[in-house]
Amino acid sequence: MTIPFDILLLGPPGAGKGTQGILLSARLRLPKFATGDLLRDAVARGTPLGLQARAVMESGALVSDEIILGIVREELGKPAAAAGVILDGVVRTVPQAEGVAGLLAGRGRKISHIVFLDVTDEEILGRIEKRRTTESRADDAPDSVVRRLRAYREQTAPVLAWYEARGAVHRIAGTGTVEDIAERIRAALGR
Ligand code: AMP
Repeated sequence: MTIPFDILLLGPPGAGKGTQGILLSARLRLPKFATGDLLRDAVARGTPLGLQARAVMESGALVSDEIILGIVREELGKPAAAAGVILDGVVRTVPQAEGVAGLLAGRGRKISHIVFLDVTDEEILGRIEKRRTTESRADDAPDSVVRRLRAYREQTAPVLAWYEARGAVHRIAGTGTVEDIAERIRAALGR
């Protein structure tokens, strides 16, 4: 049996994790999941999870670690995830990093590569503003964006240090064309 290839994408909101995750997923033929997408879908369908998460998401704060780890447990249990998965924006707090490591370890797995997309706040604000005109996400409204960036700085930035203390993190410059960034990631992963 080949070793599962699990990739974690880290980075601030608007760094391009979603875009690069889709490209990676197609290239490596691995499923990708984003907790943000799964939560938005739950909100749109009005499921109990969606009802629980909606207000928190719209405000730009983070939903609970317990909710996130429940989602990860379910996704990792899917047969399609057996050969590896791409986790997009899935880990945003240190307890989530610990929880995801535990869930993977329970399956005899660990993250193979951590890709951190590095972009400046200025670039992020410009990208989110652009996305707001095309995607109409409630949490791309200016107040929510400020809150999301604060959540990132206070709760998610320490995650990077947590992973760096435990192994290599690929720091990828997140500026340039989508293709440039994809090529940097390919070179870093070696596949
Ligand atoms: P995103 O689409 O990745 O920007 O996520 C949208 C929103 O979903 C975030 O602002 C959070 O409210 C919530 N969310 C997504 N992933 C997580 C996570 N791993 N931990 C906590 N909240 C999350």
